[in-house]
Parts: sequence; structure tokens; C-alpha cells
Amino acid sequence: MSKPAERRKFSWARQRSSGVAERLLANRILSSSLRPRTLRNLLNRAASFFSPLYCTPPATHLKPSQGSNAPLTKAPFFCILSFPTPHPEPHTLNPEFDILIVGAGFAGAVLAERLASRLDRRCTVIDRRDHVGGNAFDRRDGAGVLIHPYGPHYFRTNSSRIVEYLSRFTDWHPVEYRVLSYAGGRHWQFPINLNTFEQLLGRPSTPEEMEATLAQWRAPIENPKNSEEVILSKVGPRLYEMFFKNYTRKQWRRDPKDLDPSVCARIPIRTNRDDRYLSEKFQALPKDGYAAMFRRMLDHPNIDLRLGVDFRDIRNTAKWKHLVYTGPLDEYFGHRFGPLPYRTLHFELETLPREFSQPAVQVNYPGDEPFTRVVEIKHATGQKIPVTTIVREYPDDYGPGKEPYYPIPAPDARALHARYAALAAREPGTSFVGRLATYRYHNMDQTVAMALAEFGRLRATWLTPGLSSRPSPGHPEKREWPA
Ligand SMILES: Cc1cc2nc3c(=O)[nH]c(=O)nc-3n(C[C@H](O)[C@H](O)[C@H](O)COP(=O)(O)OP(=O)(O)OC[C@H]3O[C@@H](n4cnc5c(N)ncnc54)[C@H](O)[C@@H]3O)c2cc1C
Repeated sequence: MSKPAERRKFSWARQRSSGVAERLLANRILSSSLRPRTLRNLLNRAASFFSPLYCTPPATHLKPSQGSNAPLTKAPFFCILSFPTPHPEPHTLNPEFDILIVGAGFAGAVLAERLASRLDRRCTVIDRRDHVGGNAFDRRDGAGVLIHPYGPHYFRTNSSRIVEYLSRFTDWHPVEYRVLSYAGGRHWQFPINLNTFEQLLGRPSTPEEMEATLAQWRAPIENPKNSEEVILSKVGPRLYEMFFKNYTRKQWRRDPKDLDPSVCARIPIRTNRDDRYLSEKFQALPKDGYAAMFRRMLDHPNIDLRLGVDFRDIRNTAKWKHLVYTGPLDEYFGHRFGPLPYRTLHFELETLPREFSQPAVQVNYPGDEPFTRVVEIKHATGQKIPVTTIVREYPDDYGPGKEPYYPIPAPDARALHARYAALAAREPGTSFVGRLATYRYHNMDQTVAMALAEFGRLRATWLTPGLSSRPSPGHPEKREWPA
């Protein structure tokens, strides 16, 4: 066995041996000639046999608040190997692991998987939640319905490279997401297409007629500077008032006039009968759900997953050679310029004793209702179950104790972000990746692409001598931390 492999085997066994029996077992390991990975597999098998008897509960059985305080029951040596446990003593993070990854969402998981499997780097992945997957996490609720607890996550992409990469960890359930808008007491096809136009007219029509009518309705705005101007320039005031104005106000608590054009420009307007909500070539959900896909991504001997661990609790004690940070950027720098503005969401779940409750996976509510949309994700997951769960989504102001969901796409927020981004660019040995760390709304495929790009950059830097664009910080205690 090579020297580094032997050293790794030693420290791996020593760290996990606390009692006499464990130490004896560790000594046997140290004197064995098996490769560490083989040993680890053997012991994990033993662990899965014994774990129901001895282990701390898997982290997924704990509430987030229990995460950092939950006692780590003394367990046999081999049991400790099997589960990612919430860790009460952050300083016991494995010092042999050289990359610390904050966040087990798409950004963190992709980087952990690539660094572990392609560069043989040992990564500790922490997340302050008690599950993997970040906002894309899914789970079964009390009635057994598979739900998306952080809002519906419709996977779609035009990139065959992203599909190919994620397909290593999941099969797919193809789906076409269909959305309706409920206004004036009835459901309308949405996004606006020829069918919507026919609903408005109350008779059959053609793409030519729709095009000609929209040409009359459109406001003559050549370069729209905000979201109101974008929609007025595409469909005119009638359809803007009907589908966009109030919905956007509820969502952002800002007038569309005060939001970037990109907010409303995302929604297509079609003069054909394509009534799909999204236009990307590939639209599907992971066949066994997102959580299963993430677990497979992170299931690697070089990855040490610790759930229920907040970076803020360990940053002054843990050590790392490189940090991948996917949490909120302002939080990383101690909010020194003030908090970055976000919108948050509050979800109200209702389980109903029938197969389906509404005619589409998503119904938008652009009227005076306090919620913006109702989602019945069962339409998309294809789950066969005689009950259903709908989720009403209420936008809300962000503040302490709430989840930061949507960065505000407006000039004032962008200016504040630019100040934090300048600090991030100067931070040595740290990769800021993902939607919170870059303060940008990214779809899942864009987040995967960003993480893969950062992996490429790190690989080039580390494997090419003299190309170190960001020097390793050494130990965190030697650095100046923000107040
Ligand atoms: C309501 C909503 C709906 C969406 N719907 C879609 C959709 O339909 N399709 C689509 O493609 N995209 C969708 N997205 C975007 C998608 O959620 C993101 O692209 C993706 O989740 C980004 O992954 P991430 O890893 O950057 O962030 P996240 O998924 O947010 O993961 C970051 C992780 O870091 C952890 N973390 C943060 N700070 C700390 C800390 N201090 N210590 C430890 N852990 C920490 C968090 O707990 C979190 O788990 C949606 C987003 C939202 C908000």
C-alpha cells in the first residue's frame, strides 16, 4: 500500500475508535492488508446490520433545531461509520478532510462529488438543515404524498451535458409541466398562447389573428427598462393587468415598474398552441425523487457528510485547505454592509381524500388572494396514491429566522450585492458558488453548470503548478474574520 493510503487508513481508523473494543478493532484494521476502501465497505455492511440496535438516529429523523444539540450516543465503532450524524462537537470535524463544503444543495453536492471522485480530494460537506438537496429536497408527507417542501422544483434544461452528468445518479420521469391562471372566476391557459386568446374571444382563432391583435394591443416600447414595460411591449395593458400586475406585486412586494425586465421576461408569450409552462428541450423529474439522487451523489468514501451543522458555529475552529461556500454571501461577511434583500415564502399544505384536487400541477392566482399559486406536485411526479396534497404559496418579507428564497432583482439590491461580491473576489482559498453565494436566481441546471465550471477552474489551478489564482488560506485562525 502506498504511504499516503496507509496514513489515511491509520487516521481514519484512529479517529473513529473511542472505546476499548473499538480500539482493538482499529488495531486489527491497522495490521490488516486490506485497502481502506474495502475495509470501509465491509464495516459499513456490518454497521447497517447493527445500527438499528446501537446508533444515533439518522439525521433525517431529527428536527433542524435538534441538529447541533443532539447527543451523539456512544455507538460501536462500526456503527459510527454508517450514517451522517448531526455533530454536536464541530471541532471534531475530520481534520484529514481537506475541503470544507458549506451546503448540500446542487452547488455543494456537485462540487463534492466531482472533487471526491475525479480529484480524489477528501471533502467534508456540512448543511445546517437535517437533509441533503438544499431547496430541491423532496420528501413524503404524513399521507405518503411525495412533496417539494421548498416550492415546486421543475427540472428542465437545454444542456445534454447536464442531463448526462445527473443521469449518473438518477433515472428520469419525463413530464410536461402545465400551468393555469385563475382570474375572474375561471381557469385560463398560461403562459399566454393561442388557446388563451381563444378563451378571451370565446371562439376559435388563428396564430395570424392573434399576432395581428397583439400588434394593436402592444405598447410601443422599444427597449423595455423594467418588468412592466416588458409585458406592455409584448401584450399590452389588458393582458398585463389580468395576469401579471398583481401577481408580480404579491410575489415581490414591489411594483413591476421597479423590477428588472428579466423578472417578467422569463415567461413566454406564444401565438401557437404550445401550452407548456417551460420551453426547454429536456423536462423531467428524478425518477426516485431529488433526495435519492442527492444521496447517491454524496455516497462516496471521500465525502464526509455532516447534517445539522451550521458554518457559523465552526468557522473559527474547523480547519480546511479550501472552502466551498454556498450559503448567503452577506452572512459570510457578517452583514457588514447590511443585509441583502430577499423575498421569503410561507407554505400551507393541505391533504385531501381524493386523487387530484385541481386540473394542473400549478394554478396561479393573480387576484386579491394572499397567495400567488397553488401547487399539486402529484401531477408532475406521477405518483399513484388515492390521496393528494396541495401547497398554497404565500410570499413574505424576509427577516431573521426566515429562509432567503428569492434575491430581489432590482438595481438597489444589485448595488449592495456588488459591494459583497468585491469582498468575495478578494477572499483567498474560497469558492463562492450557487444561488445564495452569488445572490442570483439560478435554475437547477444553471447551478449545476456553475458548480461544474468551478470544478474545472479548481482542477486547472491545483493540477497546474504555478497557476494558483487563489492561494490556500492555511488555517482559518490565522485569518482575519469579519466581526
Ligand atoms: C421557491 C423556489 C422554487 C424553485 N423552483 C425551481 C424550478 O422549478 N426549477 C429550477 O430549475 N430551479 C428552481 N429553483 C431554483 C433552485 O432551487 C436552485 O437553482 C438550487 O436550489 C440552487 O442550489 P444551491 O446549492 O445553490 O442552493 P440551495 O439549494 O439553497 O442549497 C444551499 C444549502 O446551503 C445550506 N446552508 C446555507 N448556509 C449555511 C450555513 N451557514 N451552514 C451550513 N449550511 C448552510 C442551506 O441549508 C442549503 O441547504 C427554485 C427556487 C426556489 C426558491
